[in-house]
Amino acid sequence: MSAEPPTSTTSIQDPEVWAARTKIATLAHLMFERRLTDAAGGNVSARVGTLVCITPRFAGSRRQWNLRAEDVLVADMEANIVEGKGDISREAKVHFRLHHDFGHLGTGVIHAHARNVLVFAATATPMPPVLEATRKFGEIPVVKYAAAHSHLLAENIAAAIASQQARIAGHAAAAIAPYHGLFLIGRDLDAAFDAVERIDNNAYCILMGKQLMSSDLLAESRAKMEATILDFEHSEKH
Ligand SMILES: [Zn+2]
Repeated sequence: MSAEPPTSTTSIQDPEVWAARTKIATLAHLMFERRLTDAAGGNVSARVGTLVCITPRFAGSRRQWNLRAEDVLVADMEANIVEGKGDISREAKVHFRLHHDFGHLGTGVIHAHARNVLVFAATATPMPPVLEATRKFGEIPVVKYAAAHSHLLAENIAAAIASQQARIAGHAAAAIAPYHGLFLIGRDLDAAFDAVERIDNNAYCILMGKQLMSSDLLAESRAKMEATILDFEHSEKH
């Protein structure tokens, strides 16, 4: 799955196409199991030459992300299905736009309703990195609102990615759609999946860290521990 611009039309028989469909089915299920997306939505896609392999519509709500390789659709760059049954998700416009605009930098695109990132989406809050593992993604921006199925959302996400496209070849570039979820493009599918999990872990750390700092539970328990130990030491001396 090279990020080089394709020189000729890719054949559906290309073994890399089947490999990508297999990998997408596996990763999509893994995302659901790890709460990196939910039954309501998400999409995983990978470009192989001039073809885009992508999860079908209703993969979460009707299939609970139990997909076989043959369930993963294959489309041309204009989102016309060339192999596979079913429809392309209405949310997939962003995928094709990112493959079109940034295909020379990366081949893996993921849209995820990742549990911890959803808190940032729900509150339209940009997310700064708080882990060594997420510094490379910088602050994840929140784009202007547009409905999930709209061309405008694809427009807004592509603009946010364009301003940080150097990150794609390094690993991935991401943006948050307000009240919705995460979109990112990675140098390949492995990098994209890895980025979704890193970014969701980063969100978790911020959320839990706030809990820790605004609560005096820790101070109380430390004081209690000190008192218990001092009591014990005191009783040992007598
Ligand atoms: Zn969605």
